[in-house]
Amino acid sequence: LVSREIHPHDTVVKIGNVAVGGKEFCVVAGPCAVETPEQVRASADAVKAGGAHAIRAGAYKPRSSPYSFQGHGPDGLRLLAEVGREMGLPIVTEVMDVADVELVAEEADCLQIGARNMQNFGLLKAVGRTRRPILLKRGMAAKVEDLLLAAEYILAEGNEQVILCERGIRTFETATRNTLDLNAIPYIKQKTHLPVMVDPSHGTGVRDLVIPMALAAAACGADGILVEVHENPAKAWSDGAQSLYPEQFEQLMTRLKPVVKAV
Ligand code: PEP
Ligand code: MN
Repeated sequence: LVSREIHPHDTVVKIGNVAVGGKEFCVVAGPCAVETPEQVRASADAVKAGGAHAIRAGAYKPRSSPYSFQGHGPDGLRLLAEVGREMGLPIVTEVMDVADVELVAEEADCLQIGARNMQNFGLLKAVGRTRRPILLKRGMAAKVEDLLLAAEYILAEGNEQVILCERGIRTFETATRNTLDLNAIPYIKQKTHLPVMVDPSHGTGVRDLVIPMALAAAACGADGILVEVHENPAKAWSDGAQSLYPEQFEQLMTRLKPVVKAV
């Protein structure tokens, strides 16, 4: 079902009223996590001012350590949904557990499946039974083929609204948090009709590398980016080192325009 051979035309996925995979380059931006009402509102203001099409933030956080902040769960989700409505921005947020799918599908415009759950097949089937668009992130040790098969699980349940997301993979390189596999973008575009986004934040783990890799993502044919922006990255509860300052986000949006126009 994901194959371009079977389905030659590009699939356009709608997140709220925002089209992904059409002519426009889609920018989903926001903090790693929902922290406080003030932080969500200030970060939403920043991404809206910069011209983002949708806002991201996690209420359920997949943290390496069980002692790290795990997210506010349902309260965080409702807060994000409220801010999204106030600002007129569709929301993208992660769901980690089958038990939470129904609630997240009620509140969110797009459900994110994180890298760590790319092959959580029960979860893939559960989101496949919703009628919400799914942003499926590539596992950090997954081949592109595995990503496409994970998407197939969702489509096989009847949900064809799937956006793939390259977010960096683990390699021997330790200078950056992950190695952003930009080869995957034109490759995936050849293999499947589904739209593809790039996450240069998790892909690099380093704030000052995010803008160049976001521009590179646009240049190699991505349909959009998922980028972490925090009103005050130094105080972020998670992923501060890779979160853009609001000024940097504005700069990114300005610099993206000529690149998007050129491709
Ligand atoms: C995130 O988007 O904040 C996140 C946890 O991403 P990933 O699953 O790609 O690590
Ligand atoms: Mn993050």
